[in-house]
Order: sequence, then structure tokens, then C-alpha cells
Amino acid sequence: MQLLIINGKGERLPVTVNAHIGSDHCIYWSFFNASKRDLLYEELLKTRSVLEAQAEQLKQLAATDELTQLLNRREMKARSTLMLEQAARSHQIVSLLMLDIDFFKIINDTYGHMKGDDILKELGAKLNSECRKTDLVARIGGEEFLIMLPDTNQENTLLFCQKLHALVATIKVENTPITISIGVSIADEKMSFAALYAQADKAVYQAKEQGRNRTEFFQAVK
Ligand code: GH3
Ligand code: MG
Ligand code: MG
Repeated sequence: MQLLIINGKGERLPVTVNAHIGSDHCIYWSFFNASKRDLLYEELLKTRSVLEAQAEQLKQLAATDELTQLLNRREMKARSTLMLEQAARSHQIVSLLMLDIDFFKIINDTYGHMKGDDILKELGAKLNSECRKTDLVARIGGEEFLIMLPDTNQENTLLFCQKLHALVATIKVENTPITISIGVSIADEKMSFAALYAQADKAVYQAKEQGRNRTEFFQAVK
């Protein structure tokens, strides 16, 4: 038996007890100090909480873009898919914005990769502070970012994109503001992430074609 006994001083003593009835019909008891058993149990509990914290940290790392601390491509895909499913169920509109920094290669080539990284970090922080908690913000590769806005129609999405262009203009390289091109696709009915992404990608291409530093909405060719 594992027992906890309380001694005269009120101290708790864990003990292991063996008892058996002898052939003489007497009960023979033996008590063993089991303080170490409790220490071991406490250690197990501590180890478990350390492992849980590490697992949480790993989950966070696996979901995050190292440079900007935004969501990475994989996490963005998973969360966007969920958001699209929820929106389709409650008949809400979702917008997907693809942002691509204009002429980023020239910035890298002129000022070095480190400067390029600093710009990516600054942009990441600014996008994060501009977005709501319920928006999804990710860096999905080099100088490309995605933002998913739940429950946002075309008009409000355009206003938001205008804000983003102004925000990006506050990031300067030797007094020259950087610019971005934005492609937007809107899901007003059930749509897969892949389909919405492909449309936003086409819209970015349109924005680049039409001179950059602008927002284009995806338009289906009729
Ligand atoms: P465009 O206006 O057509 O988008 O031109 P661009 O130069 O921005 O596009 P391009 O695709 O030619 O070049 C993207 C550059 O982004 C190339 C690469 O050097 C840079 N890049 C990609 N990943 C990183 C990164 O993690 N850090 C830095 N500093 N640069 C990166
Ligand atoms: Mg690009
Ligand atoms: Mg670019």
C-alpha cells in the first residue's frame, strides 16, 4: 500500500506499507520511508511541463517565418483553408491579398542582402501592426507576403490596400520609399485556397504589368 501519513508535527510522510497475516493470526506490518518516491513523482511532473513547453515552442517555430515572425507558407495555407471553410458556412466574403515588393532585386544588388533583410523585417512588422488580430498575415517566400481578410468586401479591401501602399511608402532606402504591387482575389462563395491563391497571383502579375506600385483585383477573362 502507498500511504501518506501525517506525523505529530503535521509533516506529510509518504510511506510504502507491507502487511500480511502470519500463521499465528497476527498481522505483521512493515513501513518504508518513501520520500524518494514523491521526489521522483515531482521530477516527472516537472519534466512533463518542460516537455509541454518545448512542444509548444516547436509548434510555434514550425508555423513562423524566421525573418519576420509572421506566419510561414505552410501555416498560412492551413489557417486560410480553415478561414475559407468557416466563411463559406456563414456566407461571408473573404479577401486574399498578395503583396510583392517592387524591384527588390535592385535593392539587394545595390545595398546588399542584409539591407534587403532589414526591409523585409520592417515591412513584416508594419503589416502585422496594421492588420487586425483576426486577419492572417504571412511571408510566403522571398519578398512576397499574403494577407487574408475575413468578412471584407471589395470596397473595404480597396481602402485597406490604399492604406498598405501609404504604409509601405514610410519604409525608405536612402530617402527613396519602397513600393509594392498588390493582387487581390475575393471569395464570395465556397472556394479552395489554391484557387484563390492562383487568382491573387494573376492579379499581382497584372499590377506589375500595369506599372507596379498599385493594386489590381483579379478579373476573370470572359
Ligand atoms: P518585381 O518588381 O518584378 O517584383 O522585381 P523584383 O526584383 O522584386 O523581383 P525578382 O523576383 O526578380 O527578385 C526578387 C528578389 O528577392 C531576388 C532575391 O535576391 C530577393 N530575395 C528573396 N528572398 C530574400 C531574402 O530572404 N532576403 C533578401 N534580402 N532578399 C531576398
Ligand atoms: Mg516576387
Ligand atoms: Mg518583387
